Amino acid sequence: MLIENKSIAIVGGGPAGLTLARLLQLKGANVKVYERDFNKNARVQGSPLDMHEDSGLAAIRKAELLEEFKKTFRPGADRTLIVNERAEIFFSDHETKPEEDFGEDHFRPEIDRGPLRNMLLESLHPETVVWDSHFLTMERQNEGWLMHFKNGTSEYADLVIAGDGANSKIRPYLTDIKPVYSGIIMLEGNVSKESAPQIDAMIKGGKIMAFGNTKNILLGQKGNGDLGFYASFKADENWPSDCGLDFSDNTQLLKWFKTEYSEWSPVWDELFENVATPFVPRLIYSMPSDHSWETQPNLTLIGDAAHVMPPFAGEGANMAMLDALELSEYLTNNHYNSLQEAISAYENNMLKRAAIATHESLENGERMHSEKSLATMLDFFNGHLTSS
Ligand SMILES: Cc1cc2nc3c(=O)[nH]c(=O)nc-3n(C[C@H](O)[C@H](O)[C@H](O)COP(=O)(O)OP(=O)(O)OC[C@H]3O[C@@H](n4cnc5c(N)ncnc54)[C@H](O)[C@@H]3O)c2cc1C
Repeated sequence: MLIENKSIAIVGGGPAGLTLARLLQLKGANVKVYERDFNKNARVQGSPLDMHEDSGLAAIRKAELLEEFKKTFRPGADRTLIVNERAEIFFSDHETKPEEDFGEDHFRPEIDRGPLRNMLLESLHPETVVWDSHFLTMERQNEGWLMHFKNGTSEYADLVIAGDGANSKIRPYLTDIKPVYSGIIMLEGNVSKESAPQIDAMIKGGKIMAFGNTKNILLGQKGNGDLGFYASFKADENWPSDCGLDFSDNTQLLKWFKTEYSEWSPVWDELFENVATPFVPRLIYSMPSDHSWETQPNLTLIGDAAHVMPPFAGEGANMAMLDALELSEYLTNNHYNSLQEAISAYENNMLKRAAIATHESLENGERMHSEKSLATMLDFFNGHLTSS
């Protein structure tokens, strides 16, 4: 096996990095994950993710974690309402969605990010994840790399795999290409269900997509009842600094919402009045569709580090986990003569696949923020249901 007796460093313990660590450990590889979070509870994990049969779920199966996944996923959390700005319902599959099961093409079970992360963490050998390891720089040493972390430590690895997300600090060691701003900002908030009773009564454990006047609100209910939501709209890349808002001041944000979403019903105000944590403006980026780099024998990228995935097709975590699955196979299937050959085959395939998913996601993003977003999304959902 190409990675026998090699030390492997995965930088970043997101869906990509942790899935890869698990898959490589199943093959007996020597792997460490260097994660910048101080510990596994350092951050509130975001909204639920739906796992797709041929990508996220395929990786979970290969990682021998399907039975664990079945204990933690959230049946029914994929049920969706599409509403307008006045919260009038135009589409609901709460009563009509057929019972689907694992193995069926269109089944997209939802899991909260926290439990997904915990499931992957618990599957790893003890001490695999080195917390508080914020990667800063690295330099070539012997066949591999000497990495330096913010906490003052340095570690050597023969093979470095970057799973450090959209703002990857390792990507520049392979390419100068930078993510391109999509023009869309998703302002993220989290509110308890008790603080948003009208919306809690509507969402019933599922999702709501609300469309109006080129803006929208997307919500998903988490396992603990909290409502994770995004107010999503088009804005300049400098909006977070230029808008003059203090994102931890609910009163300011509510005023902003009432002005910018002026046609929207007061039902939505409860999200902004009682938000539990500071809002986080998430600027949506993607990589140019033709980007690539010269393959190295000791370094590669997975997940958003490789192909920052806009969220409008629900593919980001799924693509990240499929990268992990495919890379683990290329590195261990004994079809290649060298690490460089194996990594090159992985990268060629991954970049083509990611370009298609990125294109689809950006198209959805345009639909969702168009003048006729409600009608377009209703057509899209109804068409998708008829063809599936
Ligand atoms: C608003 C929004 C909504 C989304 N919704 C969905 C959705 O519904 N479905 C979906 O599939 N995808 C969604 N995505 C996309 C999805 O979140 C990403 O594609 C996915 O998380 C990528 O996984 P990853 O492991 O590559 O990176 P990440 O999840 O970003 O994980 C990277 C990890 O690396 C760590 N890290 C970062 N820098 C360093 C460093 N210098 N040193 C050490 N560690 C570091 C981070 O702490 C983190 O743990 C959404 C994205 C956004 C922005």
